Amino acid sequence: MNMMAEPETGLPDDVREELSRTADPGFASRLRSELRARQARATRSLSWFDLELPVGPIRLVHDGELIHLVTNDLRRFDALVDEGLGFEPGFGDSNRVRQEVSSVLAGRRRGNEVAFLGALSPFQQEVLRVTATIPKGQLRPYHWVARHAGSPGAVRAAGTALGHNPVPFVVPCHRVVRSDWTLGEYSAGGTEMKEQVLRAEGVTHERLEWLRHAPRYIGQLSSHEFCLAACPGLDEEDPALHRAFRSPEEALAEGYVPCEVCRPV
Ligand SMILES: [Zn+2]
Repeated sequence: MNMMAEPETGLPDDVREELSRTADPGFASRLRSELRARQARATRSLSWFDLELPVGPIRLVHDGELIHLVTNDLRRFDALVDEGLGFEPGFGDSNRVRQEVSSVLAGRRRGNEVAFLGALSPFQQEVLRVTATIPKGQLRPYHWVARHAGSPGAVRAAGTALGHNPVPFVVPCHRVVRSDWTLGEYSAGGTEMKEQVLRAEGVTHERLEWLRHAPRYIGQLSSHEFCLAACPGLDEEDPALHRAFRSPEEALAEGYVPCEVCRPV
């Protein structure tokens, strides 16, 4: 059996076109190796099982080690796997994957470590990696994700990358919200589902209401640190000890230092 034969056959037309018109040999070779990794993964046997969450069941497609796809839209499962993988896997449970997912949902592991993200663009992988660092029960705005992914101007692109998150719940895109702390889009069931998922993690409706009227950044007079308004380290009860800032730059110019919990910059 010749394992090296025909590495580019069976590629989608748009990918083949990308390979043929790119002028950067380094880019083409990186893309080829990504696609080989994807192909190697895809030829491993993929299967799925369901997991019950407080907000309903989710279905996970896995290879016994890594998770390739997650959805809570079980009615559209066939269409989703066809779009995402190009073929339909059969049922197959895995204790190992169940344990990995439990660790992620409990906040003991980061979702990007147990998901196969190699088929995604480097930017989308970075956005998902940053999103996976957001602790359970906390929120971050899209612009925070873009900034920490190394592209502060790419706020909309970060939103798009999260909108196409192949592994929602495992990589917690529900913890990323708009700059005004309204919830915004959620591909796994819209704003209402996003609020339900957050509520199951302890983010109350009252908390969201409080945030809606809070400034973007808050300096603490006592410690001279500044935070995102959603920082769990902030004492919400005593606004007399707060100072409002519109941007991190404004806070830095006033001599405030970034909080290490919410990492506002
Ligand atoms: Zn903070």
